[in-house]
Amino acid sequence: MSLDLPAVIADITASMASMEDRGQVATYIPELATIDPAQFGIAIVTADGRILTGGDADTGFSIQSVSKVFALTLALGKVGDQLWDRVGREPSGNAFNSITQLEHEQGIPRNPFINAGAIVVADVNLGGHEPRVAIGEMLRFVRYLAGDDSITINDAVAASETATGFRNMALANYMRAFNNVRHPAELVLGSYFHQCAIEMSCRQLALAGRYLMLDGRHPGGGRVISPRRARRINALMLTCGHYDASGDFAFRVGIPGKSGVGGGILAIVPGRAAIAVWSPGLNASGNSCLGTLALEELARRTGWSVFSPP
Ligand code: GLN
Repeated sequence: MSLDLPAVIADITASMASMEDRGQVATYIPELATIDPAQFGIAIVTADGRILTGGDADTGFSIQSVSKVFALTLALGKVGDQLWDRVGREPSGNAFNSITQLEHEQGIPRNPFINAGAIVVADVNLGGHEPRVAIGEMLRFVRYLAGDDSITINDAVAASETATGFRNMALANYMRAFNNVRHPAELVLGSYFHQCAIEMSCRQLALAGRYLMLDGRHPGGGRVISPRRARRINALMLTCGHYDASGDFAFRVGIPGKSGVGGGILAIVPGRAAIAVWSPGLNASGNSCLGTLALEELARRTGWSVFSPP
């Protein structure tokens, strides 16, 4: 039976609208606490270029940690595999903002998707420049990936996190003590907080993720990264993209995904689809409640999984 994707999206969007338990919006970044939790969006871009959407797919939201995927892609382009001398590739089993493993592991974060790892990646991307140079480069990169120059950074969100991001400041300074952060913490975080404050809709985010379903190719022509690098980023998304709930996400959904505390998730079905879902209410691990549920239902209805034959 052929897959009626528009009907699947319509069903999922309708069933999410009736959900009562939507989780809690992130409040530790004050600006995010003001977002209405009664929102849900989904966008799917297929390998043959179809775009299907449901719900609030064109409403912009703070991509937060989903940006770690794009930042990692940029950093690998700059320093290649040398990055892995400074960041590990193992799931942490800890919360996204945890500091505990850093002491025993000489300031080397477990993976690039927990905050500590993303801060090292931001340090690499800073590369001796002013934060505004690195921020500009990141924004240009995301616009190029999505093919959309209207994507911007929400300065109020960046300012809000700058005013309250004490844990991230501690992580950056702690890793600086091990020389694994090499610029002053406030410069690295200036860049990191702005990267997290990029605002995108589900449609824009799914479009930006296309290179990861296409083995590293840009659908407009040319290559973003090599096939090997695309596969590796997908592997890290599957094993580390949801922090201490990464195993549960792989079990329930079965495809690479990266979440953010803005409530967005980018999920990749290699060779088939790039998917973005968004709903601001989070579960205890800081991952979107309805976003995860919607992806679980989508995987069930489509059979999309990296663990089953195409
Ligand atoms: N900017 C957020 C932070 O550093 C990103 C966290 C997330 O999305 N999980 O805390």
